Amino acid sequence: MSPTKHSDNQATKPNIAFIGLGNMGAPMAENLLKAGYPLSVYDLSADALKRLQNAGATVADSPLSAATNAQVVISMLPAGKHVHSVYLGDSGSKGLLLSLPKGTLVIDSSTIAAADARVVADTANKMGIDFLDAPVSGGTGGAVAGSLTFIVGGEEQAFAKAKPILAVMGKNIFHAGEHGAGQVAKICNNMLLGILMAGTAEAINLGVKNGLDAKVLSEIMLQSSGRNWTLEVYNPYPQVMDNVPSSHGYKGGFMTDLMQKDLNLAMETAKAIGAETPMGSKATELYQQHSVEHGDKDFSSIMAHHDKSVWSS
Ligand code: NAD
Repeated sequence: MSPTKHSDNQATKPNIAFIGLGNMGAPMAENLLKAGYPLSVYDLSADALKRLQNAGATVADSPLSAATNAQVVISMLPAGKHVHSVYLGDSGSKGLLLSLPKGTLVIDSSTIAAADARVVADTANKMGIDFLDAPVSGGTGGAVAGSLTFIVGGEEQAFAKAKPILAVMGKNIFHAGEHGAGQVAKICNNMLLGILMAGTAEAINLGVKNGLDAKVLSEIMLQSSGRNWTLEVYNPYPQVMDNVPSSHGYKGGFMTDLMQKDLNLAMETAKAIGAETPMGSKATELYQQHSVEHGDKDFSSIMAHHDKSVWSS
């Protein structure tokens, strides 16, 4: 976008506070800047703040100072406890919801339990603040490309207000239902993703151990009935695809610990209503074992559960 267009658009765009600038949050925030949204950012990591400062954001030293003068707050935090602490406060800090003006739009894109999202939504509601749970799918590639899928829970009028902003960071924007519905849909998707990734790694390993080339086998399955998202854009075997974590030491991407968190959320949700999830349970068990040593590596490193040599490829 040209600098002229940037400043032309700025007057009509709301100020946004962005909290949580990790693997997903940083590129999402950068896309908002590129689209001309005035952005104030906060993260616990100085490196994360520096990256966004270089991209043109104003750096703040707390969630509250980031949100001063913001009409919209977006968060992209690891888990429910971080979302709780930022919005509702903890022993060390006052929650952001207690300080935001009425009518502020708050969009939490972290993947957390639906029950936690509903607790934050209830408090927001009491304070006259519009809250949406808006978890995403599409990975870090989707965050960089601005092609994420947003799965939103909350009231229709808040969804309508959020949609043009979400459209800067995503391509598909769904209103799943009321508060918490976005999180329920998201964990259904991620339980399936965990199963697909573990199953794809298992199938590739079976072929490789029988003398097949991982790239050839992946192409065959991609054009056959085993086709799935991991084969399309996120192959777990090293050097089958460029620009995916498996070809870069399984760094970056979607951490095993985060997949583990999502699978645990899915299992809790299933247990609460008595839904059977045998495949989800097995995937949870596999990622749990894997995360003991490799929690900080991308979740496609579940490949190493079958073939330890992938660490050195
Ligand atoms: P990440 O760990 O890379 O980033 C999280 C960021 O939040 C870090 O920079 C951390 O410093 C910051 N943070 C933690 N506590 C904070 C606090 N109290 N205040 C301010 N900043 C704080 O995680 P990620 O991969 O960006 O994932 C973020 C969320 O998105 C998670 O809920 C994850 O499940 C979900 N998600 C991730 C992916 C993916 O591919 N990485 C895809 C879809 C959804």
